[in-house]
Parts: sequence; structure tokens; C-alpha cells
Amino acid sequence: MDITKHLFLNLSIFIILLFFCLIFFDNIKKFTLSKSSLSILCIACVWLCIQFSYNPVPSARYDLRIIPLVLGALYIGIGPILTVAIIVIRGFYGFDLGFVQTAALYAPMGVIFWRLYPWFLRQVPGRRIFITVCIGVILGVVTVIGMSFENTHTFWLDAWFAFLFIPSLGIGIISYGIEFVRRNNEMQQELIKAEKLKAVEQMGAAISHEIRNPLTAASGFVQLLQDDYLSRHKRKEYLSIVKEELISAERVIQDYLTFAKPSLDALEELNVKSELRQIINILLPLANQNSVEIITDFSVIGFIEGDGQKFRQCFVNVIKNAIEAMPNGGYLTITTEFSKNYVTISVNDTGIGMTNEQLERLGEPFYSTKGKNGTGLGMMVVYSIARAMDGTVWAESEIGVGTTFHFKFPTIPMILKSELN
Ligand code: ADP
Ligand code: MG
Repeated sequence: MDITKHLFLNLSIFIILLFFCLIFFDNIKKFTLSKSSLSILCIACVWLCIQFSYNPVPSARYDLRIIPLVLGALYIGIGPILTVAIIVIRGFYGFDLGFVQTAALYAPMGVIFWRLYPWFLRQVPGRRIFITVCIGVILGVVTVIGMSFENTHTFWLDAWFAFLFIPSLGIGIISYGIEFVRRNNEMQQELIKAEKLKAVEQMGAAISHEIRNPLTAASGFVQLLQDDYLSRHKRKEYLSIVKEELISAERVIQDYLTFAKPSLDALEELNVKSELRQIINILLPLANQNSVEIITDFSVIGFIEGDGQKFRQCFVNVIKNAIEAMPNGGYLTITTEFSKNYVTISVNDTGIGMTNEQLERLGEPFYSTKGKNGTGLGMMVVYSIARAMDGTVWAESEIGVGTTFHFKFPTIPMILKSELN
């Protein structure tokens, strides 16, 4: 049972390696292998097989090279490369009978695999697994027949069992794994696409509805304005209504555009403190109007990476909401803290607060409790910008007490250092 034992050990090493590869690729989603790196991986596997082969006599090497060959040739289409690699690598271990047999078996296989590859890809997954296993069995049979030309003192039942069973088992397991991962990935992509389409559909319907209202109102007043006998006072009033309606339509479009394009255009180093000061300056008139006092408690330093304009948009939305939640005045406290890895920004208000149900719906498109004065897009924009900047957002709220929004962004260590020096 020497060959069987040896090949089983090799197979288990293969499967353990495969398992770690799966974990690695599952965790590092962004990492994709090119065809050339996959080829190098297959050639390395071939080399490992030949290096750790079972050799009862010096001229014979029995191993699982069939596995990387069949899978690489059929799934990646590098059959000729792999057969050349097998022959060359085998050459390093001596030009003996085993080498001649290897060359005689694998040289034609290179051509056969090359012809099979396009046909193989067109098959359904189940049949692909079946084909790879069958080819594994055929190559196993040919290998044992080749063995009979050598006097290796092997126990033939052992050799037949080992080469009929183990490579095809390995090929079956790995090709099943490949098909499984492929199917999973395809399903995930389809899901993402379906979600996106649904969101775009919903947004389209809601956007047209949201814009149509102010536009209808505006056009109605424009019609009234055509009346030649309209008093100066009335004309002025209608014009201001038209202007207001148009501004509200524009606001919807502006919010939507910021959402629709969440990717960051210009990455820059942002000084959180000065950015927030700027935003507060913009919103100060609104705060004064609502008798809201703004209190700030900023950490000395804090740099993050992002698009300045989007960052400002994000916090204008949050702070505006906070001010709007305090129609009878109150305190708006903005705090920043920094640690080695993160900058945390908190925006607290003493406003009306939210129920749990409201908190859960936060960020949902067109969810607003402000009726005509709200677009229900502000928070959605906030979430999408924070996500694009690798940040996280969470909110706490209590009815009648107030709301706090917490933001956490990764810091830039380089800047941190130069500031401290
Ligand atoms: P809009 O401000 O146009 O209504 P947003 O997406 O900005 O839309 O906010 C959605 C809803 O979330 C608001 O209508 C409001 O009910 C709630 N909300 C957001 N921020 C606060 C806050 N600081 N306090 C209380 N409610 C808030
Ligand atoms: Mg808002």
C-alpha cells in the first residue's frame, strides 16, 4: 500500500492548501489572480508534486501531477504550457525511462487539452466536473500501464487502486470547489445588480414625483403671472413662490446627484477641525434664526483622507437636520476626538429626537417627517459619503431629549507624525 499511502498524503496536503486559498480569497475580495499568476501557481504545484513523488526505483516517480495538469488545462486553458513544464521539470530529475514515458504521454496531451479547452468551457458545471474526473481516470490508467514497462517491484493492485482512485478523487473535489465558488460569485453579482436596478427604479419614480410637484406649482403661478391686470404686489408674491418652488426642485436634484455619485473625485488630506469650522460658518445664519447655540469641542489635531466637498456636504446635511430638529432653540454640540487610528466626530442636538422606528428608517431614500420642507435624501447622502470614505456612522436618539450622530473615519498616520514633530 506504499503508493496509495504516499498519494493520499500528497492529496491531503493539496486539499489543505486549497482550503487556505479559499479562506484567503474569501477575505481579500479585491485580490484577483491573473492568468499568468494562475499559471505560475499551477507550475509550482506540478513541481511540488514531482519533488515529493514516490520513487521506488530512481527512474520512476509516481505523483499527483495529473491534478494540476487537468485542472489548469481545462479551467485556465494552459494545457500546452503545463505539459511543457511537466516535461522540463521531470528532466531536472534525470533523463531516464521515466522521463521518456512522461514526454511520450504528456506531449500529445498538451495538444488534446488545447483543443478541448473551448469545448469544455461551454459545458454546464455538473458535466465539467464529470469530464475532469473522467480525464483523471484515463490519465491514471495510462500511468499504470506505463508503470508496467518498468520493473519497480510494485504491488499492482496498490498501483491500480492508487492511480484510478486518488487523482480522480482530488480532481473531483477541487473542480467541485471551483464550480461552487464560481456559482457563489455569480449569484452575488446578480444580487448586487438586481439591488442596484431596484434602487435606481425606485429613485427614478420617486425623483420624478418629487420634482413634478414644485414644477407644477411653479408653472401654475407662471400662468397666473401672464395676467396683464395683476397688481404689482401680487406679481411679486407669485414670483417669490415660483422661485421657492424651483429652489426646492433644485434641492432634490442636488441631493440626488450627490447620492448617485458616491465615489470620491478628488482625494485630499482634510483637516477635520478647519473643515468643520467652515461648515459651521455656512450654517450659522440658520442656527441663529432657530435660536440654536453651537458649541464646539475640537481635538488639537485630526486628519483624514477624502473629498473636501463631499465631506462638507455630509456634515452640512447632518448639522442642518440637527438645527431643524430644534425649532424652538437649543444647543448643538460638535465634538471631535482623535486616536492613533481614528478620528471620531459627534454631532449632538437637544431637539425633538427620534423613535426607534425612525432611527431604523434613517438613510432610507425619501424618508422624511418634514412634509413639504424635506426631501428625505439628506441622510442617505450622509451614509453614502461616509461609506465612500471608509467611515462608519451610528446614531443615538431619545424622544424629547435629543439626538447624537457619531462618525468614525480612519486617520492618516503620516500627517499625524509630521504634525507631532
Ligand atoms: P429631510 O431632512 O429632508 O427630512 P433627511 O434624510 O435629512 O431628510 O432626514 C430624514 C429624517 O430623519 C428627517 O425627516 C427626520 O425625521 C429625521 N432626522 C434626521 N436627523 C434628525 C435629528 N438630528 N433629530 C431628529 N430627527 C432627525
Ligand atoms: Mg435633512
